[in-house]
Amino acid sequence: MPSIDELNSLLQEAKTKLAAATDEAGLRQVEIEYLGRQDGKLTQLLRGLADVPLEQRKIIGQRANEVKSALMAFLASRRQALGSSNVPLVDLTQPGTVPSEGHRHLVTQAIEEIAEIFTRIGFQRSYHPEVDWEHYAFAALNMPENHPARDEWETFFIDTEPLGKLGRRVLTPHTSNGQVREMEQQKQPMRMVNIGTCYRRQIDVSHTPMFHQFEGLLIDEGVTMSNLIGTLDYFVKAFYGPERKIRVRPFHFQFTEPSIEIDVSCGVCHGTGLLRQGFGGQACRMCKQGWVELGGAGMVHPNVLKAGKIDPKKYSGFAFGWGVERCFLMKAGLEIPDIRMLYSNDLRFLQQF
Ligand SMILES: [Zn+2]
Repeated sequence: MPSIDELNSLLQEAKTKLAAATDEAGLRQVEIEYLGRQDGKLTQLLRGLADVPLEQRKIIGQRANEVKSALMAFLASRRQALGSSNVPLVDLTQPGTVPSEGHRHLVTQAIEEIAEIFTRIGFQRSYHPEVDWEHYAFAALNMPENHPARDEWETFFIDTEPLGKLGRRVLTPHTSNGQVREMEQQKQPMRMVNIGTCYRRQIDVSHTPMFHQFEGLLIDEGVTMSNLIGTLDYFVKAFYGPERKIRVRPFHFQFTEPSIEIDVSCGVCHGTGLLRQGFGGQACRMCKQGWVELGGAGMVHPNVLKAGKIDPKKYSGFAFGWGVERCFLMKAGLEIPDIRMLYSNDLRFLQQF
């Protein structure tokens, strides 16, 4: 059964031993002897408290706590004096634990690179609404009422009925809504690149309902098709590499006249359409006979210039609008089985870029 005297002499005894210790090992030994959780002397005394009559228990318990605090304080001061510490030793020469660091999403990386390339040749990045009027998304782009793209199976409409002469609100199905908006704001000449989010009612292995496009628009006096082709050739070489070539095919779009489609020489088979020696001359799976389709372009239709209050007799221009995801996958030489992987947020996929 513990008593005040017993506690006092225990404290004295322990202090003497601590004072005599000359290193951390000695201090640690005394610490275990008196404060050890299992059978330290003070711990054992405290266990005996249960046998002490209630009226004394409070006084002895209080003294026991004082002794414990005093002992711990003395131990700490001895440690300090001996220059040791009970903090585990840290080897500062060991390599540290590197915190995991994220990076920008691959589509964001592609957007920034595309913007940077066009900025270099004088295009200004512009931003336009993702929810826009039917007027800017279709009518001003020379798409008549009955054009299939205006069907609601292709486009997300916000309103069921037109709200005024600008029509219904839509989630922009392409970045071309920025064309007439930009023409209305800017003084000529103008060069803009509008990179934005687009929405269409489509979802399968090669489509996501949300995707990105970049739209270029240049308007000036005397702009010709060769300016367009030169600009796109510059982009292709900057983005994909100087060895890549472009090919132009005639096409049809409502908002450009004439309209073209641009193909780029395949980066896998170097435009030959065949895999290199050692693969038995098999046909390349990335391309069609050495070329991959990039997207559409053309000279801005005079009706679109008129919708933007620009005189088509004085000014001409070109425009192009391409998919960011598609351009990125082609650059990476990736043939992913499902384009939705880009947005499924699986880190095992995203961390590779
Ligand atoms: Zn190829």
